[in-house]
Amino acid sequence: MLQTQNLVKIYKPKKGVPVKALDNVTLTFPETGMVFLLGKSGSGKSTLLNILGGLDRYNSGDILVKGNSTKTWKQSHFDSYRNTYVGFIFQEYNILDEFSVGTNIALALQLQGIKPSSEQVNDILREVDLDGYGNRNPNELSGGQKQRVAIARALVKNPKIIMADEPTGALDSATGRQVLTTLKKLSCDKLVIVVSHDREFAEQYADRIIELADGRVIRDVERLECEDLGENNVPVYEEDSVSLPEEYVLTAADKVAICEYIQNMISAGKQPKFSLFSSRSSVFQPTDESRIPLSYEGYNLIKSKLPLKYAFKLGASGLKHKKFRLVMTILLSCIALVFFGLTDTMTSYDYVQTAHSSLMDPGNHIPYASFKKSIEDEEAFYYSANHGMTEDDLKRIEAQTGLDVYPVHDTFFHFDSNLGKADYNYNYYMSYFSGCIEITDKLLSDMGAKLIAGHLPEQKNEAVVSTHMLEIFQEYGYREQPHNTDTPPIEIKSPTDMLGRTLTGIDFTVTICGIVDTGIDFDRYHELKDFETEDFADMVAFLALQSELDYVRSYSLDGMLMVNSDFIESNADRWHLEAIGRSSLLRWETTGYEEYLYSCIQPIGDIDLSKVVWLDGKKRDSLAGDEIILSKEMYLLYLQSMAGEIPEDYNFDLLKEAGNGFGSLANEELTLVFEDSDYYKYEYGEDFPTGTHNLKLVGIVDDDSGTAYCVLPENYAKIPNASSILQTLSPMPTKSQDVLRLVEFSDKDFDPRDNATEVYDMMNPVTFELKNLDEIFEVLKDVFFWIGLVFVVFASLLFSNFIAISVSYKKEQIGILRAIGSRGNDVFRIFFAESFIIAMINFVLSFVATLLVCSMVNTAFKGNTGMLLTILTVTVRQALLILGVCLLSAFVACWLPVHKIAAKRPIDAIRDR
Ligand code: ADP
Ligand code: MG
Repeated sequence: MLQTQNLVKIYKPKKGVPVKALDNVTLTFPETGMVFLLGKSGSGKSTLLNILGGLDRYNSGDILVKGNSTKTWKQSHFDSYRNTYVGFIFQEYNILDEFSVGTNIALALQLQGIKPSSEQVNDILREVDLDGYGNRNPNELSGGQKQRVAIARALVKNPKIIMADEPTGALDSATGRQVLTTLKKLSCDKLVIVVSHDREFAEQYADRIIELADGRVIRDVERLECEDLGENNVPVYEEDSVSLPEEYVLTAADKVAICEYIQNMISAGKQPKFSLFSSRSSVFQPTDESRIPLSYEGYNLIKSKLPLKYAFKLGASGLKHKKFRLVMTILLSCIALVFFGLTDTMTSYDYVQTAHSSLMDPGNHIPYASFKKSIEDEEAFYYSANHGMTEDDLKRIEAQTGLDVYPVHDTFFHFDSNLGKADYNYNYYMSYFSGCIEITDKLLSDMGAKLIAGHLPEQKNEAVVSTHMLEIFQEYGYREQPHNTDTPPIEIKSPTDMLGRTLTGIDFTVTICGIVDTGIDFDRYHELKDFETEDFADMVAFLALQSELDYVRSYSLDGMLMVNSDFIESNADRWHLEAIGRSSLLRWETTGYEEYLYSCIQPIGDIDLSKVVWLDGKKRDSLAGDEIILSKEMYLLYLQSMAGEIPEDYNFDLLKEAGNGFGSLANEELTLVFEDSDYYKYEYGEDFPTGTHNLKLVGIVDDDSGTAYCVLPENYAKIPNASSILQTLSPMPTKSQDVLRLVEFSDKDFDPRDNATEVYDMMNPVTFELKNLDEIFEVLKDVFFWIGLVFVVFASLLFSNFIAISVSYKKEQIGILRAIGSRGNDVFRIFFAESFIIAMINFVLSFVATLLVCSMVNTAFKGNTGMLLTILTVTVRQALLILGVCLLSAFVACWLPVHKIAAKRPIDAIRDR
């Protein structure tokens, strides 16, 4: 089944001259029998055996396996060939010391794809006379026993060929004989090729002896069949000597011939010489290879395949060693991976995610979801954090978030005058409403708020306030009469004490008809009431807490004036004027002076027209598009700005007396300027009257209110498109998914242009704090990316190094595994299994530690800063990354060295140790 043709092997050492270790070797091996390769050291025996066994490659010529040329074979073919046909036995046994005798044998079976049973293993051990040695450790065995384990391992896969390189070399002669006897037994139905330099053993056991010298076959003899033996078993008569076979019994003819020989020698004056030769040597004759039958049947190469489970078992058993190193490696790389995990949570910082997890934090309890629209347009250079909302905006929020959206209207309502004390503590208390909202039973129940006293507003001038707004009256008392500080304030003890009392704002007076408890806890902010510090850090914390409080009451029901729809309507009308005045859209120009009309525009409906002194004497119900009326106070300011001071001879009554015409004042032209800006067009629509307008002063309101205001014609007072809706209020959803939807919505830019944004900001202390830190986080994100990279590189280097070293310790094992027929792939599986186990331990420990440390960092952050943010969130991403790093470094660290060793010819891997 095995033939060589003109086999040549040349070793080209890095240093020195090339050695021709095999020179044109052509041989045909029989199917069975014991063939000895005999020769002096260095003659090429091992080289021939290794090449025959596929452990090494030849340079030229060919080896035929069942008639199949191996010229084109790759290393993996040779691996399979060895796995299928060859059992190898080495001088150094090459038993895997890490495994028991039984496992060593079972492993060889595994590589055949056979599940080993303990009976099978025992049967084989019995065959080599090692019955019951299965659980022994190889270290406990003698050399002969080890060699027999090696034979058993070779036998286990029932190979057609057994190859043994000096199997007795390390054994004493008696033990050597035992081993050879075992092999001889096997040669009955297998081809056994034994390398030896011991001629005596060879002649005793061989069926054929192939003798090598300098890589050439110099002698090739086979044992004669028994019937042929006689021909050789005779004395050899030569001219001056006679050789007799050992233990030869002389025949009569021999005796005559010997006598004749002695006489001839004596007569020639020479000494007769006798020698004995071993009858055995004489039983060999030149090999007749033509008699060897060639069989080409049953050619089939089996790829070795080590089941993963077994690879794991082998891998795990490798972990028993180097325990300290292992623990240290895992510990250090775990620490590095935890740092990596933490930095990665920073690196993967995402506004939406952080806002979401912070809002979901049960400790924060934010029951409201409020939105404010903000618009930025770099091209138009305007920025508005406070953009009015329209019905369309409300619909958009509703559609995109699935929330019930309640509009909150801008209102001007300061009630300082009703406070018992003028200088109240504004760190904690607030004496105005942040907006007004139409209060209904549905809104109350949606927000989880409760009416704890009174009833909901039924009249336009009725209002409900929160328990938080009530606190300021409980603290300082209440005054009915504005500006009257002579009477002591009325004490307010319970919510009902406030019912029926009035609050006086600039434009409105409302009667409190009910008190609502929103359920929001303000205890957290009580420390703001009596705060005193010089410490900077405390100051920062104080300011943070204060702005948090600001957000809580500005965007929850707590800071709102809760009214009915009639109030909302009249508030909206007035709001237009307030908006124009407050945002300084409008100013007038006189010679050299500019006077802004701040919050001083009155609707004509609110003016007592009978008090107006019409400069041209014509009474009107409304103003034409270019007419303006000033209050007396405003008129004085106007005169002042014209002349620098009020004229000395000024006398309003005289002017009035003068009646119609008013002299020079009549039809005074005032130039009114509406700021011209794209922004106003954008905010209030194309119809907004920007630019310069000349208005005629047609009247002065003769009242004694002392307030400066003006009355504008309809077209200036009503701004198309303007909306009094300041923000929206909705209940915070309870489901995490729904909250996420809100946060995502708040992060969405509805302006398609790159340099402009239209965003609905979510308003609460959490998103406020996060927005403040967002930029810092974005910077840290990049910084932490690099720090994380350093940690991950460190962890993987450490880990890879450990694995690479443990692999290199096992070069020998790899060689042995290769020799007994496993492919590079199997070897990789075993080592990867080991690395995989470490990688998984590493991963689990690191990830759990990351979770723990993360929650510790979060708690510490909240505790130390007083903020509400959950800054670090560990997600699947970190789990996958850590897992990926562990597995990848395990894979690479394992693959590189194993592949390097496995890519070698098996013989080099074995030699390399
Ligand atoms: P034997 O087994 O008969 O003692 P070898 O087959 O081991 O001989 O060696 C045959 C020749 O090849 C020797 O000259 C030896 O020095 C040389 N040789 C063997 N292996 C190598 C090798 N890996 N590199 C270089 N030369 C080698
Ligand atoms: Mg040798």
